Amino acid sequence: MTQAAEFRLGRSFVGRLPEGQDPLVALTDFCREKGVQAGWLSAIGTLRRAVVGYFDEARREYLRLPVEDFREIASCQGNVSLREGQPFVHLHIVLSAEDGSTVAGHLLEGEVFVGEFYLQEVQGPALVRRFDPQSGLALWVFL
Ligand code: ZN
Repeated sequence: MTQAAEFRLGRSFVGRLPEGQDPLVALTDFCREKGVQAGWLSAIGTLRRAVVGYFDEARREYLRLPVEDFREIASCQGNVSLREGQPFVHLHIVLSAEDGSTVAGHLLEGEVFVGEFYLQEVQGPALVRRFDPQSGLALWVFL
């Protein structure tokens, strides 16, 4: 069964990601500062390095794919919700190399060279993640 809730559009933020920081940390801090508890994110820019994850269903853990060179953020989409009462940023990313080849996955860490983001807050019921024993992941729970 599809689980969902109805939300209204809240505030919209457009900004730059800080050079040298992890985009996950920077965006989580930004959400905490602004009181954003739920929303949708997109970003473009360049990372100096990153680690992307691929969730291995059998092992129930993320395989880590290190990306050690300079990459364009060809696409980055994600969301914000609450995990253990705090804003939690979930990002997926496509990183392109000099020859146009890409690596993509769940962003585990990264280091910003430059970046531009758009954050659309949504307002409504609390959007909460809880550990789901069936998948091994922290998923949204709709009560
Ligand atoms: Zn993910």
